[in-house]
Amino acid sequence: MDFFVQFRQQLNSLEPSDIVPILSFRQSILDQVAQLVPHCNELDVPYFHRLVFLEPGEFEDEDLQAAAERGHGAVLQAIWTEYGKPKLYLLARTAWDTYGRQTVTHWIKLAQTVLDSLYGDHWPNTIFETPNDCAICLQTMHWAEKTVCGHVFHLHCLLRHMNTNNTCPICRHPRPLLYDAAAYSEDDVSDSEDDVSDSEDDDSDSDYSVEMEFGNLDEAEEAEEEYE
Ligand SMILES: [Zn+2]
Ligand SMILES: [Zn+2]
Repeated sequence: MDFFVQFRQQLNSLEPSDIVPILSFRQSILDQVAQLVPHCNELDVPYFHRLVFLEPGEFEDEDLQAAAERGHGAVLQAIWTEYGKPKLYLLARTAWDTYGRQTVTHWIKLAQTVLDSLYGDHWPNTIFETPNDCAICLQTMHWAEKTVCGHVFHLHCLLRHMNTNNTCPICRHPRPLLYDAAAYSEDDVSDSEDDVSDSEDDDSDSDYSVEMEFGNLDEAEEAEEEYE
């Protein structure tokens, strides 16, 4: 049977694996692509990890946005259908045109890894449940920041609110985050450092706790970058 007919048929019936033995999807995908398409453009590598951190409103695709708002994993199916399968199919076309005859089992193995990497990525739980809306911007919210009073908002929405009013928008709890909104915004970081050196006489316990929070946040962000 024709390679592309066979590949497309198997691609369409692929399901995510129940048990996934792979530790680094990214490496596994890169290795397999390097074997099949040695001069593959980086943009053509079928790997969708960067989508994990986007909110539905940030997807530049209305179908993906709608799927994300439905929850229950619909967005993963949409990413696979709209981007995963076409990308794999086009890549196989490139390989065929450039390097000649291809083997379906190699390509289905790559496709399975791509599908498993998509479902096995570090998605927030709301992707698989019914997501809430952020009470500030009213958009669907997958990445929520929890306040000390237990309410959830987009972090950037809450920080914008806290710039003018340092209370929870829902219950008016004072200082709803452990750190101050003003101290958190990047533009103000250098200013507040100056303030600290100018005012060493001040009792600055609160400043100190703010800096401790910063340290933790920076470390968390660095860890995230390394992971990527
Ligand atoms: Zn919001
Ligand atoms: Zn609250």
